[in-house]
Amino acid sequence: MNRVTFIPGDGIGPEVANAAKEIIDATGVAIEWETVNAGEAVFLEKGVLVPDEVYESIEKNRIALKGPITTPVGSGFRSINVHLRKRYDLYANIRPILSLQGERSRYPNLDLVIFRENTEGLYIGDEEFLDEDTVIARKRITRKGSTRIMESAFAYAKSNGRKKVTVAHKANILKDTDGLFLTCARAVAEKYPEIEYEEVIIDNMCMQLVINPYQFDVIATMNLYGDILSDLCAGLVGGLGLVPGANIGEDIAIFEAVHGSAPKMAGKNSADPVALILSGASLLDYLGETEAAEKVRNAVSSIVKEGIHVTKDLGGTASTTEMTAAIINRMQGK
Ligand code: NAD
Repeated sequence: MNRVTFIPGDGIGPEVANAAKEIIDATGVAIEWETVNAGEAVFLEKGVLVPDEVYESIEKNRIALKGPITTPVGSGFRSINVHLRKRYDLYANIRPILSLQGERSRYPNLDLVIFRENTEGLYIGDEEFLDEDTVIARKRITRKGSTRIMESAFAYAKSNGRKKVTVAHKANILKDTDGLFLTCARAVAEKYPEIEYEEVIIDNMCMQLVINPYQFDVIATMNLYGDILSDLCAGLVGGLGLVPGANIGEDIAIFEAVHGSAPKMAGKNSADPVALILSGASLLDYLGETEAAEKVRNAVSSIVKEGIHVTKDLGGTASTTEMTAAIINRMQGK
């Protein structure tokens, strides 16, 4: 029996996380879910954003399915999401970008994967007021952090028959930080002569992605660029409702969607559950349940492509629960 930590999150989190859990259970893979929660709702109830039981559960089970958690802008706790990635050294944030809507997709048959470094960069949140009118933020780039994300990207490219790895950077301006990242990227690329290696400056990368995303295959980049490119790429394939993610470390993994808690949609049973369901499929892969994962992916892509039992973001009128039920029916051959 696999034990998995289940963190529903807040905003639309509980709605989409429950959908993902229901679908994983419907595959027949035996999972004992341990539910713990963090975030706004927990704070209101317990006066703490991340109760100890969340850490205890993740450290015991070493694998979690997580709904999005709201991060207030401005002062206060930085981000529970960033905190968990950092605490467990979940250095590889892997985000597949697939167009699932068939010919209705803006870019049909697009298939990219983003590898975002998940523990360093500007995301360390090291900011300091020099005086009341001046504030600086430090960007941390290390040889170890840069090398291991590039190793992950190339190893993935090799084992999945991918042709090219593109690094997005701004080393023309950030010569030391992004410069070190590129040095590490080049050293890793040399070990994979069979895979094409390319460097693109981040601003140009954004334009190239919109004009012709098919020229890319695997994209590897630093933390903040990866965050921004993920949402941009989600826009290429139908929106944030469709893009899953995985935060992978040495021996702990947290699976969650790219999207956040979309507070305005919360409690309306209208959020698209696909991103978290596909994050659940990656969790099944991680557990070695590849057949079950494939079954989930096939049912999701069939329902999304058909475009009938889908949520509003995909042009339909189905609720979150109706779309989830349609996916389960499809898994059962209906
Ligand atoms: P968001 O991703 O929550 O939503 C942006 C927009 O995308 C929404 O207004 C909605 O139109 C659409 N959207 C997102 N998910 C959708 C879904 N499943 N179905 C249909 N449409 C969907 O981004 P935001 O509004 O910038 O952030 C809201 C909160 O979420 C913030 O507090 C932010 O910090 C947090 N956040 C958390 C995570 C995480 O937990 N990993 C990730 C990103 C943002």
